[in-house]
Amino acid sequence: MTDHYDVLVIGSGPGGATTAARVAETGKRVLLLERGGFLPRERDNWDSRAVFGDMKYTADETFYDSRDRPFRPELHYYVGGNSKVYGAALLRLMPADFGEVRHPNGVAPAWPLTYEDMEPYYARAEDLFWVHGQHGEDPFAGLYSQAYPYPPVQHEPRIQQLSDGLEQLGLHPFHLPLGVRLTQDGQGHATANSPCIRCDRVDGFPCLTGGKADAEWAVVRPALAAHPNLTLLTGTTAERLITDAGGRSVTGVAVTHPDGSAGTFTADVVVLSAGAILSAALLLRSANDQHPRGLANSSDQVGRNYMRHNNLALIASSREPNPTVFQKTLALNDFYGPGQHWEHPMGNIQMLGKSDDWQIKGAAPRGLGWAPSGPYGQVARHSVDFWLTSEDIPLADSRVTLRREGTIKLALQPGNNTEGLTRLRRTFQEMLSKLGMVDMLSVRSLYLHKSFDAAATAHQAGTARFGTDPATSVLDLHCKAHDLDNLYVVDGAFMPSIGAMNPTLTIIANALRVGDHIAGRIGTTT
Ligand SMILES: Cc1cc2nc3c(=O)[nH]c(=O)nc-3n(C[C@H](O)[C@H](O)[C@H](O)COP(=O)(O)OP(=O)(O)OC[C@H]3O[C@@H](n4cnc5c(N)ncnc54)[C@H](O)[C@@H]3O)c2cc1C
Ligand code: SF4
Repeated sequence: MTDHYDVLVIGSGPGGATTAARVAETGKRVLLLERGGFLPRERDNWDSRAVFGDMKYTADETFYDSRDRPFRPELHYYVGGNSKVYGAALLRLMPADFGEVRHPNGVAPAWPLTYEDMEPYYARAEDLFWVHGQHGEDPFAGLYSQAYPYPPVQHEPRIQQLSDGLEQLGLHPFHLPLGVRLTQDGQGHATANSPCIRCDRVDGFPCLTGGKADAEWAVVRPALAAHPNLTLLTGTTAERLITDAGGRSVTGVAVTHPDGSAGTFTADVVVLSAGAILSAALLLRSANDQHPRGLANSSDQVGRNYMRHNNLALIASSREPNPTVFQKTLALNDFYGPGQHWEHPMGNIQMLGKSDDWQIKGAAPRGLGWAPSGPYGQVARHSVDFWLTSEDIPLADSRVTLRREGTIKLALQPGNNTEGLTRLRRTFQEMLSKLGMVDMLSVRSLYLHKSFDAAATAHQAGTARFGTDPATSVLDLHCKAHDLDNLYVVDGAFMPSIGAMNPTLTIIANALRVGDHIAGRIGTTT
């Protein structure tokens, strides 16, 4: 094996895998480096205690917060990255998110691209990740150029009843766009040959059947089968990026091989997609004489502007039982932008997977001021579970830095635009009360499984934002580092603001956009 490649991609999550697969279409030699292995398919994939109690699949990693307190971030080192455990809710940002968004405590800055610029890539991303949905149902969403590749995942009766109730209140619930390999019969049941069986294990669990559109099943496996010029190396960690003597180009990547030995791969183009936190850390760690503050960091913006959303899980206990198995089929954007309920944006509401008694028990520790009146299993049978998201704002001091011994410090500014989430919860609770839901429990820890605030890294973004001004941004419009000729970043780091939508469809769409650009740059093999 020669160690030189046309393109080397670090990280096989949705961003890196998508770029690698797109660039591999050129026929050029592409290397995809992944520090983890394939996530084992085993019974524990769907076991609450193993997944949330023992954190069996969470990386054995320690970060430190602004007060130097250690915590375990929500990271997953596998082929497919964090998408191995994601909820596969694949939503577009709203057109307004690409402009400047005014919140009471600050401004979410405009993107250098518009929704219309991104729209064709969103359509391709929806194809690539098998998205099931129904454009046009959500009256607040942007225009679309083509239908989703698959019909929406049908509601089960209790969720259809909820949808009808919300409509009667004047709201506009729609089918949550989901990346699943699901074939439904007339009643919405999974057909005998459908990889996805509509189980209750979708949020936070790996999928045992390969039915979820994670980056392994939707991209890496098909791309490896289609392109012999694409090589995947697992268990191989990128340690530093190496530049030429003048510091203008990245010449290669120093790695640790699975056996612990050190090595180097060289490439004409290097694409970084280790996740927004680890990509920033790798750039900082790659400081050299030409880049003393870290690679691509002449602006001093690398690691800053970290965002991860203001989120909470809302468990509403309904008088009538909720026998739904696959609950994650409904969403609501009525409170997304400024409106009659508040003059500022509040955010998005979507269903979570159905919580089981183990999760309810774990989510209701003493001190939360909430205790179920009956046994936990009974509460779980009556619960209806929602996920509320509002936007946090990029702040210079919400940032990733390296501590003296090289470990990662993740500092969050407290109270970052949290009023929107508080109001969203209150407004939605009022609506749910009208629909007969009582005993509401709101917690971060149910879905994020974390009581430690900084540990909620699931929606990480913003640490190397793209823009037109090299003084205030790290990447140019093609997500190439302003400071270097051949280094690109394609994970959530590029986002100048995050909106209030789950970020992954936007990361995939952007990775396709950047992939097209790199493919044009390197040409095709004749
Ligand atoms: C529980 C959970 C639920 C979620 N649900 C949703 C959802 O419903 N919808 C949604 O849009 N998003 C969701 N997300 C977020 C989603 O998983 C991320 O947005 C997405 O995975 C980001 O993709 P990425 O390619 O940027 O990075 P990642 O998925 O973080 O991939 C980075 C990859 O790089 C590898 N890597 C890191 N460092 C190195 C190194 N030095 N050398 C080699 N490889 C390296 C990692 O092992 C990993 O495979 C969820 C996340 C979690 C944790
Ligand atoms: S609902 Fe479908 S995609 Fe999700 S874990 Fe179950 S089988 Fe897999």
